[in-house]
Amino acid sequence: MTDLYQSIDVPFNYRHTCWFCGEPYFESYGFMPSPNYEHQAHPLMLPCCQECFTSCKSIKVSSLDLLRDKVKEQLHKRYAKHLQIGVNWTKEELEDCEFEGKALEGFRESAWAMFEIAKERVNYQGWPVSIDGIPVAGMTNVFQFEFDGICYTGLNHAVQQLALKHGIPQPYLEKVVELVGRSKMAYALRFCKTSYGYSDAQIAASLDSLKALLAEEAVNESMVDSPAVTSTRSREFSISEIHDLILYRTQISAYAIQWALERGIDTLHKLAVQEDAFFEHFAKDSEMVAFTYFNGLQIYLEKRETDPLWAEQEDPNRELFARL
Ligand SMILES: [Zn+2]
Repeated sequence: MTDLYQSIDVPFNYRHTCWFCGEPYFESYGFMPSPNYEHQAHPLMLPCCQECFTSCKSIKVSSLDLLRDKVKEQLHKRYAKHLQIGVNWTKEELEDCEFEGKALEGFRESAWAMFEIAKERVNYQGWPVSIDGIPVAGMTNVFQFEFDGICYTGLNHAVQQLALKHGIPQPYLEKVVELVGRSKMAYALRFCKTSYGYSDAQIAASLDSLKALLAEEAVNESMVDSPAVTSTRSREFSISEIHDLILYRTQISAYAIQWALERGIDTLHKLAVQEDAFFEHFAKDSEMVAFTYFNGLQIYLEKRETDPLWAEQEDPNRELFARL
């Protein structure tokens, strides 16, 4: 019967473990992609705990890493209250605070444990997926975003969850992160939380003052640094107007494209000159992210150079490049 399904390899120390969250094994879920772009013939069996097994059954996606992300997002949602404990308290504060009454004392005793369990489950990375010793290609976690010790499936997911946890309107946090950059999430949260209010007018005023502040900082920085070694931003492109795309099965990140556009970089040569600056900018997140972004950007710029007709007529960002 083994030809009717394929099981992923399970290393010895991971027997009886859910691949998604690390909880005890319940049952294997047979994953079939939908839509099935790669024409996978048989279900891929993944060891699951009871909860992740139930989650899997309700998810239809085209690849295993998307399935993993969706399961993680459901865990985030289900355990939002537990994860919130780490936002509201530190372990020491909880230990020191004097709750009164039986129910509250119970909360104090179990709260940190609940937070840690939820955190471990959402952060759990599984083990590398292989079938009969051959690694399954195309699995990526480069889009994951980590903040304050918690892994999110991507920047958008992080913004959505953090806005919820901190009571900030999501579109507002999105705009602030866009302005200050993904590496300054703590700053962005602080800025949003200390804003005067969240009416449309108040948000617009706060964003204007943030833009003025950033412009001033940029001027100060450019006076300190020598222009030969820094890649200064000469113009602004909003991340929401940039399309990410897939070329030759490689994802080209909108953030990498934004970085290039803002520095007037539209050829491989110009990119090569600024390679160090690129890595300095993106390696703050992770080396792997920087490398993947750079590789994607190279493929993109090469395509634009070698296929000018495509660049002029089909590139979803052609109007943005025309502005350079
Ligand atoms: Zn699980």
